[in-house]
Amino acid sequence: MLRRSLLALPFRLPAAQAVPLVEPSLRIPPPAVALTLDLCPGGFDERLCRGLVEAGIRATWFLTGDWLRRNPAGLALLLRHRDLFAFANHGEHHLLAAPGAGTLFGQRAVADVAALRAEVLNGAALVEDCTGTLPRWYRGATGFYSREALALIPSLGCAVAGFSLNADAGASLPAAAVAARVAAARPGDVLIAHGNQPRRPAAEGLLAGLRQLQHQGMPFAWLE
Ligand SMILES: [Zn+2]
Repeated sequence: MLRRSLLALPFRLPAAQAVPLVEPSLRIPPPAVALTLDLCPGGFDERLCRGLVEAGIRATWFLTGDWLRRNPAGLALLLRHRDLFAFANHGEHHLLAAPGAGTLFGQRAVADVAALRAEVLNGAALVEDCTGTLPRWYRGATGFYSREALALIPSLGCAVAGFSLNADAGASLPAAAVAARVAAARPGDVLIAHGNQPRRPAAEGLLAGLRQLQHQGMPFAWLE
């Protein structure tokens, strides 16, 4: 799994992690694909949201508490399209779900198990407050977890949302590269991309790739 992440991300893992980390994969039953969009702390890519609405493409948005506090207008826009959008938990403070692991890709890890519980449960409560629905899926910052975290998180009422296709490498890729990755999706893939980087070109490529899949008749599903 680490090998795949090295290919998919524009970063290198630190040579020695104090706590071993894993990046779980997730697929859904074919023929559909699932689009998951992380709202890490940052802004809101309204063009992406409007493009999905125009195309009628379903997506599951992973909300962080920090994003929710700073983007009330973005949240309001998402909530106006509940026929297309589902909501999930990306943590209260966008922390790495690996107690004691330090940092990864600049993202700080939870200090201990109690902090991991707070990150997951407070994040879920905020999503419920804002959307009216208790989220069933959780994805930690970076998509990496310690084995201790993977064992604990299901006991908090959340399933861990891995993915099988990294569409935008943290919204760092040019539009053409994102479009090519997305257009290569296979039935059952869970795509990950980002909606918090309105000044980067990745979302333009994401929409182009999604429209190509749609043109081929690919159905889009939420994470169930
Ligand atoms: Zn994130």
